[in-house]
Amino acid sequence: MGTDCLFCRIAAGEIPATIVRETDRTVAFRDIDPKAPTHVLVIPKEHYADVATLALDDPGLAGEVLVTAAAVAEEEGLDADGFRLMFNTGPHGGQEVFHVHAHLLGGAPLGPMLCR
Ligand code: AMP
Ligand code: ZN
Repeated sequence: MGTDCLFCRIAAGEIPATIVRETDRTVAFRDIDPKAPTHVLVIPKEHYADVATLALDDPGLAGEVLVTAAAVAEEEGLDADGFRLMFNTGPHGGQEVFHVHAHLLGGAPLGPMLCR
């Protein structure tokens, strides 16, 4: 996608982020506005707008995003008590940044999945 995309720029090192894990094709970094004691975003370095596009176009890379998320969960000590992994998608999903990202949330009970 290029320079207009915030997360492409983070993946390219053009915008600073607190990176907690990096592989050949993925990056995990702390959310700038954490909603839980641990809140890490996991992205593919390559630009895909959302998780559906990623899964259909490159299922292997979608799997790598999940593997990176699982590795970060273990490193952050979330594996024992659990965590939430979430892909906001489109307007109803509340997606604000249109470069696919998994939210890895944990470190405390997260409450119900949705507030109504
Ligand atoms: P979403 O609403 O699912 O698109 O989530 C976008 C997330 O990106 C939000 O949780 C923001 O706090 C986070 N965010 C926005 N800008 C940055 C940034 N520069 N570094 C880290 N996280 C960011
Ligand atoms: Zn991008």
